[in-house]
Amino acid sequence: MIVVDGYAGRRVAILGLARSGRAAARSVAAGGAEILAWDDSPAVREAMGGEIQLGDPAATDWREVAALVLSPGIPHGFPEPHPAVVRARAAGTEIIGDIELLGRAQPDARFVGITGTNGKSTTTALIGHIVAEAGRRVEIGGNLGTPALSLAPLGSEGIYVIETSSFQLELIASLAFEIAVLLNITPDHLDRHGDMEGYTAAKRRIFANQRAGSTAIIGIDDPICRDICEELRRGGPARVVPISVKEAAPGGVYVEAGWLIDATGSQPVRVLDLAEAERLPGSHNWQNAAAAYAAARALGIDADQAARAIRSFAGLAHRQELAGEIDGVRYINDSKATNAEATEKALACYQAIYWIAGGLPKAGGITSLAPYFGRLRHAYLIGAASEEFAATLGGSVAFTRCGDLAAAVAAADAQARAERVAGAVVLLSPACASFDQFANFEARGDAFRQLVAGLSAAQSGGQ
Ligand code: ADP
Repeated sequence: MIVVDGYAGRRVAILGLARSGRAAARSVAAGGAEILAWDDSPAVREAMGGEIQLGDPAATDWREVAALVLSPGIPHGFPEPHPAVVRARAAGTEIIGDIELLGRAQPDARFVGITGTNGKSTTTALIGHIVAEAGRRVEIGGNLGTPALSLAPLGSEGIYVIETSSFQLELIASLAFEIAVLLNITPDHLDRHGDMEGYTAAKRRIFANQRAGSTAIIGIDDPICRDICEELRRGGPARVVPISVKEAAPGGVYVEAGWLIDATGSQPVRVLDLAEAERLPGSHNWQNAAAAYAAARALGIDADQAARAIRSFAGLAHRQELAGEIDGVRYINDSKATNAEATEKALACYQAIYWIAGGLPKAGGITSLAPYFGRLRHAYLIGAASEEFAATLGGSVAFTRCGDLAAAVAAADAQARAERVAGAVVLLSPACASFDQFANFEARGDAFRQLVAGLSAAQSGGQ
């Protein structure tokens, strides 16, 4: 745990008591501040069981509160600021998030920040892995995994690798990321940011406090990020490293014919055949690998060491994760693909796909996946989306309405093993949210893994 001692003897309000809020309350209390914690849900407040001092924001004299620590899920601008935010602002109370507090509590540590619409978690975990393999002290967290203030104190020898959502970036005031990574920007979360401009402005904040000696790593394969890259190159204090999987990026890191190329030095150098990075399939993951490599180099890690660590990366659960292999059929858990855009990335990686899809559908369904229908040997539909997806697939792809995941895995397994097509994969990449049948995408992926483990056990039992 990080002890935040900058507020000793003063009052700090904490709004939102999920994991990161509770961690913030403990850290700030440990530093000697008086805490006024609140969550709009009475059930959450009760669950605190007196562990944290509660304080209703409506009954608080905000002139006596030094800071409001806000959970990233609570609106402070669009569509409407939370009433506590309005009161805090009117009283001139500073409004910040837990990552800002980590920065203030560990002023001598080095900070790497990662943001983007997609690939944040993979890139954060990959940078963490490379840094750990290089024998440096590292903690990874933020939006991914451990809340910022539950990480270990590292001091001047340490490197914090922090995944930051756009919401969290809006709550950073002074923290400077020595190395900031912006992977890509596509429309997302417009409900919270209002429009693309608001969303882009939030993402750009990752570079806000950079100075001379900092590094800005930016994917240039989408038009918004390309513009930001140009702007920073023209006027920012940081060294800019462009990243591309589509074209040669002079002065940057890019992918050409499946090779990772480092062009940050005087000559472009081939550093890694990405086919060897087995847990990072697909060009979307190459973007993550290129950005992580650039970050590692900026931290002073040797090129060969970084390439070796990319090769040995185990991958993250639920993102094209290999759940098993039986009779030459691979079973892939891509439960994190909760929309068609994410599923498209997985479909692009395989040629003979027994596809398990469905759940709670998103707007647009799977119509955008039509260019990949030729790769689908069969589709096994589950959950609320079944009829909609059946209508989209009808006439192009053979499908079965399976109802639930267990029936889908059994049917896909039977057909894939009977057909014995080279390179066959049974792929759970639902293009849907999970909430109609599961608590979350993790529970859905875990269930898939267990079903595949059951198949493996039955297979070895039958031999
Ligand atoms: P995030 O943390 O930003 O949600 P993840 O690393 O968890 O990203 O990846 C989530 C999904 O997004 C993956 O399963 C994949 O479908 C897709 N994805 C991953 N990296 C990228 C990328 N660089 N560009 C586009 N899509 C990506």
